[in-house]
Amino acid sequence: MLDIQSIRAHFPILNQEVNGKPLVYFDNAATTQKPLKVIEGVDNYYRTINSNVHRGVHHLSGLATDAMEGARAKIQRHINAAKLQEVIFTKGTTDGINLLTSSLAKGLIKEGDEIIISHLEHHSNIVPWQMLCEQSGALLKVIPINGKGELSLDAYRSLLSAKTKWVAVNHISNALGTINPVKEMIALAHEVGAKVLIDGAQAAPHLQIDVQDLAADIYVLSGHKLFGPTGIGILYGKEDLLNELPPYQGGGEMIAEVTFEKTTYAALPHKFEAGTPNIAGAIGLGLAVDYVNEIGLANISAYEQELLEYATQELKANFSNLRIFGEAEHKTSVVSFLIGDIHPYDLGVILDKLGVAVRTGHHCTQPIMQYFNIPGTLRASFAFYNTKSEIDQMIAALQKGVAMLS
Ligand code: PMP
Repeated sequence: MLDIQSIRAHFPILNQEVNGKPLVYFDNAATTQKPLKVIEGVDNYYRTINSNVHRGVHHLSGLATDAMEGARAKIQRHINAAKLQEVIFTKGTTDGINLLTSSLAKGLIKEGDEIIISHLEHHSNIVPWQMLCEQSGALLKVIPINGKGELSLDAYRSLLSAKTKWVAVNHISNALGTINPVKEMIALAHEVGAKVLIDGAQAAPHLQIDVQDLAADIYVLSGHKLFGPTGIGILYGKEDLLNELPPYQGGGEMIAEVTFEKTTYAALPHKFEAGTPNIAGAIGLGLAVDYVNEIGLANISAYEQELLEYATQELKANFSNLRIFGEAEHKTSVVSFLIGDIHPYDLGVILDKLGVAVRTGHHCTQPIMQYFNIPGTLRASFAFYNTKSEIDQMIAALQKGVAMLS
């Protein structure tokens, strides 16, 4: 059992009113709130040890380097990467996917090759692959979904062939909450010799990730969705693969030696970390991982499942003309819905006036909206600091909104 009131005290932002009502923050799939441990850790970095990393002989530079590399080691343990050099700091999930596709664009993908993504992807796991296909002449194929928002594994099997070079799928869908069977999907891809990128943006805050158990070739995530700072993320990659990939960006930090004739690159992980990194962000992400581990991801997901079940049940009980999008058997704490023919934006604005923050729109997943033939949804997404009484506040706000707009 989690002590939610003590947990909420760690998140100062939650203790405020919006439009004269207690804030109910249900936009956790877009970004999560930050515990004091992270806020104070970032503040402390700038107050006491701010300095550039890796190159300095002086005291502060050594402390900043140790703090940043210490964060890398925490993240390595957290995702169970075999080696420290397999953990690359990025700006976030989008940056990690672009790192891979830009690197592959340097001659590693050719005309006739095939890449498989799914109908459930966020735009950031669609557009970079489309760009790679445009540049290389490779073919992009899409795994279809069913009405519950689940991927069809049979269709996936039939798309895989010796031509498949990469498969890129999310671990959890941000729009529908579907948890995809990524371990099985990775194994199937490996049978035909393809490699797999997993977009873990939505999984990292809810599930214990074990990249070795999954056998993921690349696993990317965003710090800000894991209770850490914005502008920092992780790309995990198997060492042999990362050694084969050419660097994404050139600059300082990523070199071994530079002459005008030729540059040699630094060893991993620095080969992929050109320029001064987001040092404070990396330290903050390490602290966020500590925080999540203190609570325990198993406790977090069990409690969030309770919130999901309660919200689903209350929505269904209160609104006869409710449509829920995404009713996968394995699902995380996201409810995407519409009530009658009320536009999601109109209801979202009224909810905000009543203190309830949800997301409205296509959630950067326009193909999913096209599949359901809707303009967008209202999406309530829960974290472990949310409560059933906040769900009650959302239901009451929805009732007012529906009465006004019907
Ligand atoms: N993939 C998924 C599944 C996401 O939910 C998001 C963020 N909504 C992204 C990718 C992109 O993450 P970021 O904006 O942090 O790069």
